[in-house]
Amino acid sequence: MTETPEPAKPSFRSDVTVELVKHSAGDADVLFAARVSTAGEQSLEEVTKDPERSKGLINFLMRDRHGSPFEHNSMTFFISAPIFVFREFMRHRVGWSYNEESGRYRQLEPVFYVPDESRKLVQQGRPGKYEFVEGTQAQHELTGRVMEDSYRQAYEAYQEMLAAGVAREVARSVLPVGLYSSMYATCNARSLMHFLGLRTQHELAAVPSFPQREIEMVGQRMEEHWARLMPLTHAAFNKNGRVAP
Ligand SMILES: Cc1cc2nc3c(=O)[nH]c(=O)nc-3n(C[C@H](O)[C@H](O)[C@H](O)COP(=O)(O)OP(=O)(O)OC[C@H]3O[C@@H](n4cnc5c(N)ncnc54)[C@H](O)[C@@H]3O)c2cc1C
Repeated sequence: MTETPEPAKPSFRSDVTVELVKHSAGDADVLFAARVSTAGEQSLEEVTKDPERSKGLINFLMRDRHGSPFEHNSMTFFISAPIFVFREFMRHRVGWSYNEESGRYRQLEPVFYVPDESRKLVQQGRPGKYEFVEGTQAQHELTGRVMEDSYRQAYEAYQEMLAAGVAREVARSVLPVGLYSSMYATCNARSLMHFLGLRTQHELAAVPSFPQREIEMVGQRMEEHWARLMPLTHAAFNKNGRVAP
């Protein structure tokens, strides 16, 4: 029997969702891993008893790019963002695990991205040397109107095909990359630092990067969570130019 989907009304968002759903991550994990090379097995009290020494060791590991002690921890994020953000995200292959919602097994929800007033709209310069400047009021209004019209039209086409019995995996072809998707992404501090070095702009970065604003919004939210879990590691990352060890 053909499923008849409920007609759904599109909704529009300008933000992203980033929740830390599960973690086993702390500065002590870095200390444990590093100290086995000189002191063998140690208790938690032993590895954390001298805060200044802990801070110094983490900074030394970061500065000299001894990266593996930063891998013995885990953070799982739930992320909801436009599909074009996920396309960029999944280029990060090393130290990441992903599971994304399916467009084959469920009807995709009509939630679409429309930039808000804070999003700089106009790109100037040449590839590799862009700068973004504010758009005019007229450009903002046009962008919002054209995006919303286009999203509505695309979603109606999707629903029309579903109503006629066309499979979800075929009908989804008409949906744009501004559609929101959701995923779980699991990483460790080392892979997250590599991601943040490339996907955030920061005054302390020794090697500047120029990420798309929307993936940077995700990165900044992940960084806030991580900084609370591993404050010494986060501080050492900043102190050493935000280059992953
Ligand atoms: C500002 C910006 C613009 C970009 N523009 C484009 C674009 O126009 N088109 C495009 O296709 N991509 C683009 N990318 C994606 C980019 O090329 C990388 O794929 C992405 O940043 C992930 O980086 P990574 O490969 O270092 O990370 P990961 O895949 O997580 O790899 C981590 C590290 O592991 C090592 N490694 C991983 N795989 C290999 C391998 N096969 N061989 C050798 N070493 C490996 C490398 O040292 C690498 O740095 C862009 C990225 C940024 C930040």
